[in-house]
Amino acid sequence: MAEFKTDIEIARAAHKRPITEIGAKLGIPAEDLVPYGHDKAKISARFIKGLENKPDGKLILVTAINPTPAGEGKTTTTVGLSDGLNRIGKRAITCIREASLGPNFGVKGGAAGGGHAQIVPMEDMNLHFTGDFHAITTAHNLLSALVDNHIYWGNELEIDTRRVTWRRVMDMNDRALRSVVTSLGGVANGYPREAGFDITVASEVMAILCLSRDLEDLEKRLGDIIVAYRRDKSPVFARDLKADGAMAVLLKDAMQPNLVQTLENNPAFVHGGPFANIAHGCNSVVATTTALKLADYVVTEAGFGADLGAEKFFDIKCRKAGLKPAAAVIVATVRAMKMNGGVKKDDLGHENVEAVKKGCANLGRHIENVKQFGVPVVVAVNHFTADTDAEIQAMKDFVASLGAEAILCKHWANGSAGIEELAHKVVQLAESGAAQFAPLYPDEMKLFDKMDTVVKRIYRGLEAIADKPVRDQLHAWEAAGYGNLPVCMAKTQYSFSTDPALRGAPVDHVVPIREVRLSAGAGFVVAICGEIMTMPGLPRVPSSEKIFLNEQGQIEGLF
Ligand code: ADP
Ligand code: MG
Repeated sequence: MAEFKTDIEIARAAHKRPITEIGAKLGIPAEDLVPYGHDKAKISARFIKGLENKPDGKLILVTAINPTPAGEGKTTTTVGLSDGLNRIGKRAITCIREASLGPNFGVKGGAAGGGHAQIVPMEDMNLHFTGDFHAITTAHNLLSALVDNHIYWGNELEIDTRRVTWRRVMDMNDRALRSVVTSLGGVANGYPREAGFDITVASEVMAILCLSRDLEDLEKRLGDIIVAYRRDKSPVFARDLKADGAMAVLLKDAMQPNLVQTLENNPAFVHGGPFANIAHGCNSVVATTTALKLADYVVTEAGFGADLGAEKFFDIKCRKAGLKPAAAVIVATVRAMKMNGGVKKDDLGHENVEAVKKGCANLGRHIENVKQFGVPVVVAVNHFTADTDAEIQAMKDFVASLGAEAILCKHWANGSAGIEELAHKVVQLAESGAAQFAPLYPDEMKLFDKMDTVVKRIYRGLEAIADKPVRDQLHAWEAAGYGNLPVCMAKTQYSFSTDPALRGAPVDHVVPIREVRLSAGAGFVVAICGEIMTMPGLPRVPSSEKIFLNEQGQIEGLF
């Protein structure tokens, strides 16, 4: 069997071009690139403003089946497809999220793609990058400090200290900080209260940064954040603490998209990284809208499977930013089909055509779902070396029976040369004008009905249910003027149901809405339908144990 290089070995061997050269390919003059070293740059706000009247390119979404421990490769396929489009003579930009630093030291690994379809410099992207997450962490924690400081100095706004909803954040998996007591140690340290930490990507500031059109919009949304409630349950806003101005100052540079490159020296925007459960899980609106002005094709990724990621991409990001996707690619693998068909992870190495056929039900559901948004679909079969011809053929036949096409892609092994067929198909779909994008539900629909609509039409459940306090809360927000917001569903990514073990294509399950949260600045109502972790922990053997600097001072162990 051929030897495969690790992701970091491939990334390290990349022949990177100076970032000014990558910018020049897009017509960005050197003075509008703010370089961070030689291979990363931010794009100036002035340049972005000047693009307003240019026509938009075509937006391509890369999404996937429900994730399995077998791994699907959305980012790898996003990067590969973008390189493939450039290879066939189109001007294409990849738009993906920045990596959360904490999970790199846990189990997940990096977020720069894999094999011969990666973004470089992958080490930087997976670590401190251009400091955006630092800025978001700092802006968030400034607001946290201002809340406690306000209470300390007399609490003029009458914040109910039992009802402070604004927590603290850091970019590390640290379960010890999930619940803490602050202000211990005596009178000079304030009023003790229960508090807690989330990981930075779960911060509402992250979601706001990713949905804001420009700095003005950013500052307004920061002011709209609800930090606490009074005894009469009326909300206290960040604006009431006069926090919005200083927070916007901290975020000024973080708002500008980061330009980097793929292994094949094609441009990539890596910007923003909201959680895909309690937030919408897509890269920033600024990066996507800027890329659309500069390229014929913009290839972007949504988090998790299409039931969560694509639905939120369409119903939150596209709705709010006025984006109209031209085509969608659903990534699936033979291995994941087998797992959906009941095969255990350790048995994935053996051919099992029947299991593939059985597992395809999950893929079929996602194809139908994406089509419901009026977006034409193609399936990318991300090739793993152990896949057999018969298994691949079974997937192709299944997808063909639904009136779509599945295309075998070998970008992980061969870069853009391995994904030309998919690139041609995407061009054909996008240029056909077949897309007639529309979100799933109208703004005017009641909040609970929006949740019920997603449950019925996307998860194919029987209905959404909720206890009276949850329904009352939703009615109160409707009365307060938040009824027109989209909903952000937070449920397990592993199943269409709320049971992570229920793979395939379950029907008739009931989806309980256990809790609802208002992200008033970001502009959505979060529906929590299960255990949702906003501060991950580390596993018994964290991957940090294998991360070190080698004798040449190079980083080892990131993947
Ligand atoms: P996602 O975006 O869906 O979470 P990624 O694209 O980040 O997935 O890929 C996850 C991991 O799987 C990466 O380490 C990548 O190198 C690996 N991977 C992706 N595609 C393949 C493939 N075809 N063969 C082997 N490994 C792959
Ligand atoms: Mg990814």
